Amino acid sequence: MRTKFIAGNWKMNLTKTSSIELARAIARAIPNNVDVGVAPPFVYIDAVASVIAGSKLLLGAQDVHCEQGGAFTGEICVPMLKDLGVKFCLSGHSERRHILNESSDLVSKKTHTIYSGGLIVIHCVGETLEQRDSNQTLNVIRSQLSELQPKIITDPNRLVIAYEPVWAIGTGEVATPDDAQEAAAAIRSRVSEFHGTETAASVRILYGGSVKPGNVAPIMAQPDVDGALVGGASLDAGQFAQICRYRELAA
Ligand code: PEP
Repeated sequence: MRTKFIAGNWKMNLTKTSSIELARAIARAIPNNVDVGVAPPFVYIDAVASVIAGSKLLLGAQDVHCEQGGAFTGEICVPMLKDLGVKFCLSGHSERRHILNESSDLVSKKTHTIYSGGLIVIHCVGETLEQRDSNQTLNVIRSQLSELQPKIITDPNRLVIAYEPVWAIGTGEVATPDDAQEAAAAIRSRVSEFHGTETAASVRILYGGSVKPGNVAPIMAQPDVDGALVGGASLDAGQFAQICRYRELAA
């Protein structure tokens, strides 16, 4: 049984004070039956950690360097994140692939470093509009999932894959529940190719791209969708709490 996971990506937003207020409000509002996490900017992780201590809210990071430490001016490594209480970290977010030009090789290294460092990795994949229009969605996903090789996964609870169509991120456009399901099923099948069916059945697959309280329930109802990666709506405690309580919205 896969526990649903809703993760908020705060990106390069907020101030120290507003991060603390938002984290406190979210920690108070989350339901018990769903895993919920937030990924603040690096500089606010410590402040957020102190206000969510003792709550169920999981602390995350948006990025990390691919080495575990050393002479890399300005970078942050997995042991530093763990030291602050971080439990999960994103890898391969489309903004890092497409705006910051991270290569597939780098994303793969980051994913392996996050996983082998003991954190939950949220490995993000998804097609651009151009790729979607030329029917390349499933090929792009397959290719981006090759970044999970060589086989690393011994604990499927620490591998989460987010299907995030690039054209849906921050645009207000959202994939249909059927499209989200088709992509999630393709992801599970691809993971089974190199990690076996048992691992693939346990890995959680999230949908991300303009998730809001008004569209979350039918997406979450899909059999292979195990949660959501939320950008814009995670900056509003009320909206994010509603998304986390999607079961009540569906009722
Ligand atoms: C994201 O950045 O991962 C994301 C899904 O953003 P938004 O919800 O704003 O589309």
